[in-house]
Amino acid sequence: MQKKCLIGGKTMKCDALVIGGGPGGLTASIYLSRYGHDTILTDTSGCGGEMMNIAEIENYPGFSSISGYTLSDKMEEQARENGVKIEYLYVKEIIKEKDSFKCITDGEEIVSKAIVIATGAKHKMLNIPGEKEYSGKGVSYCATCDGAFFKSKTVSVVGGGDSALSDALYLSNICKKVYLIHRRDTFRAQKVLVDRVYKKENITLLLKKNVLSINGDGEKVNSITLDDNSTLNTDGVFVFVGIVPSSDPFLNLVNTQDGYIITDKNMKTNVDGIYAVGDIRNTPLRQIITSSSDGAIAAKSINEYLLKRE
Ligand code: NAP
Repeated sequence: MQKKCLIGGKTMKCDALVIGGGPGGLTASIYLSRYGHDTILTDTSGCGGEMMNIAEIENYPGFSSISGYTLSDKMEEQARENGVKIEYLYVKEIIKEKDSFKCITDGEEIVSKAIVIATGAKHKMLNIPGEKEYSGKGVSYCATCDGAFFKSKTVSVVGGGDSALSDALYLSNICKKVYLIHRRDTFRAQKVLVDRVYKKENITLLLKKNVLSINGDGEKVNSITLDDNSTLNTDGVFVFVGIVPSSDPFLNLVNTQDGYIITDKNMKTNVDGIYAVGDIRNTPLRQIITSSSDGAIAAKSINEYLLKRE
């Protein structure tokens, strides 16, 4: 029978605390719960992480095409079905105690025997004039969230990775015209996406170009200025120029490289009892499936760690 997490006063206690509800965290929590460990998963808002922002996922086995929203929903449902307790809390600090960890959050405190850090990464900004000013007024970092506001309009997508190309394709089905602006003439994105972008009639590629500023009338975006001094009329700007790790609360706790947490092949950090999975980890590939794989491995490692302690 599934054990329940103890909730007493202002402290919750569990065997394993998973911080972050993306695919890595959700998979770790499902496996941990199925190993029979009391598992709490925390996220600041809904589960899914960056996966929520992907319009169409075509490389997760079993689904030839599925929206990030639907896959997130299915994973969260599966976690709950397996007894994972999901709490909406921001973890501010982890304090190592004698044989457990005390997690300070913006709500209740959580004491756990083991921790999985699965906080992922958030989108990078271009940091150019107009970007902050017009954020939410034409500047967006999520095509699935905001694409519908630009129905039959002209938008610009900045970046040359999987996110930029897959979202340019998504937007090309909604918008009249899509400019794809990339600073090089080759792409990081998968070839299948590059080929599709080249075939799309309403996507115009502007290669070896940088956006210098995002301009508007004070209320909304109306153009961008490029580094060839040209001005391009556009109703929206979608920025997909990479990610930065969400590791701030853990930088003094575990070893990191450029903000990404260093683990061994068992997802263990340099601190006994603390593991890291998914995009937050120093890993050569950041995909939904690799995050999930990390989660499963971390759960197995934690199971062995907890059994050894007993
Ligand atoms: P990414 O792969 O790091 O690509 C970022 C792109 O932005 C690169 O083309 C980069 O150019 C460009 N860039 C970076 N800084 C820039 C700047 N200041 N100005 C202009 N351009 C700039 O990031 P991502 O596409 O967000 O993907 C993040 C991770 O998630 C990747 O591992 C990706 O594979 C994964 N992902 C997977 C899927 C999927 O499998 N379905 C979907 C989305 C994302 P350069 O190439 O010149 O450096």
